[in-house]
Amino acid sequence: MELDADRGTPDELARIDAVVPADVRAACKVLIDAGHEAVTVGGAVRDALLGRPAGDWDVATSAHPDEVVRLFRRTIPTGLQHGTVTVMVGHGADRQGVEVTTYRGEGAYTDARRPDHVVFGVPLVEDLARRDLVVNAIAYDPIARRLHDPFGGRADLAARRLRAVGDPVARFTEDGLRVMRVVRFAATLEFELDPATEAAFAPALPSLRRVSQERVHDELVKLLGARRPSIGLHIARRSGVLAAVLPEHAALDDATWARTVAWVDDAAPAVRLAALVAALGDRVADAALRRLKFSNEDRERVVKLVRVADAPDGGAAEPDVRRRLAAAGRALAADAIALWAARPGDAAARDALVAAARVVVDRGDALALGELALGGADLMAELGLPPGKQLGVLLNRLLERVLDDPKTNTRAALLDAARALG
Ligand code: ATP
Ligand code: MG
Repeated sequence: MELDADRGTPDELARIDAVVPADVRAACKVLIDAGHEAVTVGGAVRDALLGRPAGDWDVATSAHPDEVVRLFRRTIPTGLQHGTVTVMVGHGADRQGVEVTTYRGEGAYTDARRPDHVVFGVPLVEDLARRDLVVNAIAYDPIARRLHDPFGGRADLAARRLRAVGDPVARFTEDGLRVMRVVRFAATLEFELDPATEAAFAPALPSLRRVSQERVHDELVKLLGARRPSIGLHIARRSGVLAAVLPEHAALDDATWARTVAWVDDAAPAVRLAALVAALGDRVADAALRRLKFSNEDRERVVKLVRVADAPDGGAAEPDVRRRLAAAGRALAADAIALWAARPGDAAARDALVAAARVVVDRGDALALGELALGGADLMAELGLPPGKQLGVLLNRLLERVLDDPKTNTRAALLDAARALG
């Protein structure tokens, strides 16, 4: 009976079986039929046991990568040097790629990022031993229907606890990104951090500083996708992880930080990054996002939102709200409103601002030169103005009037105003 429980209780097995994709099972079967071991491992097994929607299903196998390539008709050498091959199973349009990685042990990490060399031909338990967290080191054989859980991952899932596999200081210093992964999982899974695991963060910070910004970027984005990113953000601040990856934020005072974290939690996913960097101001936010390798598109969008993130001076007065929306631009109006809607502080002022902004947008008030009822060509034809800078200045003054009072956005009223101004 004890052996059965060790292989997985009927309930655990049923929970995983219900969600293992057919193509993953098929890939494992091909490998097992050829005399190898094949298991699913990592995040998907963890999430399936938790009853959470599972992400990518990864397969680990005792077969050498060359053998994996030989056994499947179509393969993609995704990361051959790490032993990863994407195998295509199924037929026609149903054909899917499954990532298969050969069991591997790792040599030393001299650069705190990548092992110096990987060793194939190790047993499953050694492959599991190189993984970051005990909850991420559970394997499931979908053909034999049995779990392999040599480090007590299911006990940690039940206790909702994050613990490093093996010696946490050694594990975190060999790959500094692991501490950020732990911060992220603390937030996404809403698990407690084992004290010895958190105590190992500090000695790993020099390693974290050497991790590529691309990897940090990906973790930060995943952290912001949690239901409550604040859980991870608080851990990051108290442990020094924040100072290592977002030094700009580490410099914020406690009250500003508390406000920032609350803003992030309450913000819609599309504007969480803007909420996170709003307190830095546009220049510092721009530099931080540049360093973290956000795409130009993401960065420019967020920086524009940061510029309008604070309350308009006039509170919810429509002209001020229109000026703020004009500064963000029509395309970002909905995002700006979403950012305001989550802003911590005076709820009545916030609700009034959001309501006013929605009225402005829904009514279609002009927010840009292109939305005026006349253009430069009209001014040249009607007023005999020459092309040039003066024309642009005049149009901007007309836009100012329209931002003050959208009822003046008619061709006749604008021509009258232009004559008076001109
Ligand atoms: P998710 O896919 O939900 O982001 P995950 O746990 O599946 O989370 P992946 O990056 O997909 O994370 O990695 C798959 C598995 O590989 C992990 O569960 C873990 O066992 C192992 N792993 C990933 N990154 C590391 C790392 N930096 N150090 C040690 N093990 C890792
Ligand atoms: Mg995964």
